[in-house]
Amino acid sequence: MSKNKVIPYQMVLDSIASTRELVERILPKGEIESLKMGARCIEDVVRESIEMANKGAPVIGHHFAFQREYLYCFDCVPVCIEGTSYLLSALLPDGVERYYDLMANWGHPFHTCSSQKGAMGMTLDHLFEFDAIITPTAPCDNTYASYPFFQYENVPLVLPDIPFLHEEKSYKYYGEQIKLGLEQLGKIIGQEPNYEKMKKHIQIENKIFPVQLELLDLRKAIPCPVENIFNAISAGVAVFASGTEQKLKFYEDYLEIAKQRYNKKQYYGKEEKIRSIWPYMLIFFDLSLCEWLNREIGMNILFDIFNYNFYEQIDTSKDLNTMFTDMAKRGMNYPMMKESTDFYYPFIENCVQMAKEYAADCFIFTSHIGCKQFGSVPQILREALRDEVGIPMLLIDLDVGDKRFTSMKIIRDKLKIFAETLM
Ligand code: SF4
Repeated sequence: MSKNKVIPYQMVLDSIASTRELVERILPKGEIESLKMGARCIEDVVRESIEMANKGAPVIGHHFAFQREYLYCFDCVPVCIEGTSYLLSALLPDGVERYYDLMANWGHPFHTCSSQKGAMGMTLDHLFEFDAIITPTAPCDNTYASYPFFQYENVPLVLPDIPFLHEEKSYKYYGEQIKLGLEQLGKIIGQEPNYEKMKKHIQIENKIFPVQLELLDLRKAIPCPVENIFNAISAGVAVFASGTEQKLKFYEDYLEIAKQRYNKKQYYGKEEKIRSIWPYMLIFFDLSLCEWLNREIGMNILFDIFNYNFYEQIDTSKDLNTMFTDMAKRGMNYPMMKESTDFYYPFIENCVQMAKEYAADCFIFTSHIGCKQFGSVPQILREALRDEVGIPMLLIDLDVGDKRFTSMKIIRDKLKIFAETLM
């Protein structure tokens, strides 16, 4: 039997399967449906990936901001570096701090992004064996400075270059970079990119896109018909199952639940008292916070950074160049890529606009220790929200994947006190 090159994926499979079984067995119908559906979807895709890896398919690591469906031009196992780190940080009882510490002992700075450090530590511990890794040179310095670690482990690294400006010429340039990157990857793993095969998976994403928009639109309703934890689960589904029929089914099935709640004006958990927008990330090391906010505080998370979309569908009907330019547009406007690679004005404008459109009562900004490029934004955003919309913003300094920086007790206390000021 060949060596298991994706042991952390086996850890994901075991933990997500037992979580699903538990919630399906003990929770009544209607309770945390997104978790049941999302766990099923991720379990399915991860199981297929492990089977492919066991058959000898090359394992390709990718940054979450390099779309998984683009890697379907190869017969390979795409593994999202950030997704694996954070899903295991949510699912494993002790999180993945052990792997952050391995990296710290190796000499990697403690203040870098834990989304990468988890999978890096797992690679150092020989749990992952990548045949190659592809990552754009964005969204942040952390990404660009952390990924070269893999070369010390003899993993070839492919780095499509991302331009700074969000303009037509930039999309063309990045489109060429994606194509060159895939060709380089093909040479490393000994395969020719099959763009017809890739197109089919892009077309699945094109079908998912309108469903995502409809779900986003439904969140304008009062009460919001989407439960808090959906935001975290859909982010997991996005990175683990992008470009698959399973992801399409997850979105279509959940849309039906949200529509039913919308038609009945039904809220989830406790009556909706506070409508919050989390313009950056949720807290991955303890997702039970989402349920606690719904059930104890009556605070709805309308959406987080991974659930508001500014990209468009990819035109697969024309020539390859058009398709790659569209792929670049999608990539550069992907959640976190858009915000972290652009100037901050559009981010502030979008936040003000969203606060008004979604009738938000407040913003909760999780200031993640890794995201230094975003360190100056919270104060400007707080002032803009106060002056333009008249709503407050709570700032929480933390590491979203490492519970030792700011404990869940401190986070809950802060949220509770903040909520009291709003009611
Ligand atoms: S933008 Fe922030 S959260 Fe995203 S990869 Fe970079 S440091 Fe991590």
